[in-house]
Amino acid sequence: MLTLLKDLRRLRRTLALERPDRGRSLAVRHVDAGSCNGCEHELILASSPYTDLQRFGIGIVASPRHADLLLVTGPVTTRMREPLLTAHAAMPEPRLVAALGDCALGCNVLGSADDIVGPLESVLPVDARISGCPPTPDAIAAALLELLDSRA
Ligand code: SF4
Repeated sequence: MLTLLKDLRRLRRTLALERPDRGRSLAVRHVDAGSCNGCEHELILASSPYTDLQRFGIGIVASPRHADLLLVTGPVTTRMREPLLTAHAAMPEPRLVAALGDCALGCNVLGSADDIVGPLESVLPVDARISGCPPTPDAIAAALLELLDSRA
């Protein structure tokens, strides 16, 4: 573990990552509402040591009860509509919602089958829109940092 932390510190120095100067944090609960998994791959990269969003206090949490932001990927399918609403209702106020990727924004990338309810904003109020198919890790990181700053 100590070796891993030393490696991470060395990697940060090598990449000359900006030092965090933000005083707040953003707990993110990700929900896949029907994605092809492309957006998830980019989200994982945005959480990697290369971007190291954790240094700004941005982290993925396991429960919506601990989350400030509901980050949704994919078009909302009929099966995922209720779980999505349940996760949103479980979050403490004030709660934010972000649509990650063109599918969540309603661009019909995956078609318009009967079991797709529609874009995220037809189910929940959306505070942030991250476009792209899929969005790049940099675009995801920039959008999350903007949301973090909006809470200050
Ligand atoms: S926006 Fe593109 S990458 Fe993301 S879930 Fe839709 S098809 Fe997949």
